[in-house]
Amino acid sequence: MSTSKTISIIAPFFNEEESLPIFLDEISKVDDQTTNYNFEIIFIDDGSTDSSLNFLKKIAENNKNIIILELSRNFGKEAALTAGIDTAIGSAIIPIDVDLQDPPNLINDMIKKWESGFDIVLAKRNNRLNENLLKRLSASFFYKIYSLFVGDSKNSNVGDFRLIDRKVIDNIKNLKEKNRYMKGLLSWPGFSTSEITYTRNKRKAGKTKFTFLKLLNLGFEGITSFSILPLKFFMFIGFTGIVLSVLFAIIILLQKLLYDNFIEGYAFLILLILFFGSLQLFGIGILGEYIGKIYIETKNRPIYIIKNRYN
Ligand code: UDP
Ligand code: MG
Repeated sequence: MSTSKTISIIAPFFNEEESLPIFLDEISKVDDQTTNYNFEIIFIDDGSTDSSLNFLKKIAENNKNIIILELSRNFGKEAALTAGIDTAIGSAIIPIDVDLQDPPNLINDMIKKWESGFDIVLAKRNNRLNENLLKRLSASFFYKIYSLFVGDSKNSNVGDFRLIDRKVIDNIKNLKEKNRYMKGLLSWPGFSTSEITYTRNKRKAGKTKFTFLKLLNLGFEGITSFSILPLKFFMFIGFTGIVLSVLFAIIILLQKLLYDNFIEGYAFLILLILFFGSLQLFGIGILGEYIGKIYIETKNRPIYIIKNRYN
């Protein structure tokens, strides 16, 4: 086995002063155990306002394996990950959260699977018992909808935490879109995929940086970035509506002609108007979502701005 291969760990963080020290401990243990490889640990400071960056800068002075990318503001985890991927030079890269919810001690198993020939090794959560009911329900609902629309069920219960071979990463780097749902992008090229399962722990320190609204937005982003089925779905509903209306018109006409029976229906009319009015608005909303995406893409702004690089 060659001793010069590098593995890039990519760790975006946003105000993680409580988590970073314990994360560094854990990751250096893994580094010590994995003697066949050099580790390059790329931290991306996603606009932190606490002492995270200063702490890391001090550590990095004495550790040349640590690279810090300081973004000019908070661009969001997806953008921060992208910055890390663009910078990484490793033969394999591993995105990881710094709150130890992605246990670093899985990295060795990932590497073993990679050595046995897989290009991607996913870390799959075997349960979500450590998460609250709302998050569990919404996650399972999301994955159902996602695999329905996108047709990709491999991604259920996996996060960004995975090992990805260099040749896959080079293909992912070609995906230049500005709407970045990383989990989808990381899986998009395919390649041979294996998985290991683990129990996801609670956050070791600090608080979650994702509000429910942020997650909802990310989920929406995921579906609309990888599927145009919602648009087709509305065409289907529209078409069904037309067929039903024609049938209904015939029924009304027959009732009148055969039985001289004209159906009165104020409530029914109001309901129909409300129903189809809302349905149309909903459809326009979905349309708007896609137009918004086109708008953002055409502006072609950079995904992130690196203010400083340390090491
Ligand atoms: N994170 C980031 N930028 C953000 C939000 C989060 O870099 O705008 C980082 C965060 O510091 C952590 C990882 O993304 O390392 C996952 O975030 P978090 O643990 O808060 O999410 P959760 O696990 O609760 O979904
Ligand atoms: Mg977390």
